[in-house]
Amino acid sequence: MEGPFHVSEISSRITKISPGAYILSRDGKVVHYVGRSDTDIALRITNSIGEGSGYQYFWFEYSSSPMQAYYLECEWYHKFAPTDNTNHPAVPPGTSWRCPVQGCPWS
Ligand SMILES: [Zn+2]
Repeated sequence: MEGPFHVSEISSRITKISPGAYILSRDGKVVHYVGRSDTDIALRITNSIGEGSGYQYFWFEYSSSPMQAYYLECEWYHKFAPTDNTNHPAVPPGTSWRCPVQGCPWS
């Protein structure tokens, strides 16, 4: 995982068009939101911060596939328990992936 970076640095820090997982924070310390993109992580973060939740900082990690991005998102979701995620990470339509975290009802 790389970061935290200020949201003004998205395009300079995320230089590949790639699936990946990311974390958003209002203060650069607390994990407020965990997300992923199956196609373009920089675009997804840009859209997320435009939704008015006051996020100022992000962390990210590239993934080799959408499934790996989902696994990473699940691990961070359970590890950090972000306050702004109201639901467990969802799988894309048509897939049957399960959460990799033991004991999770989605595993
Ligand atoms: Zn889970």
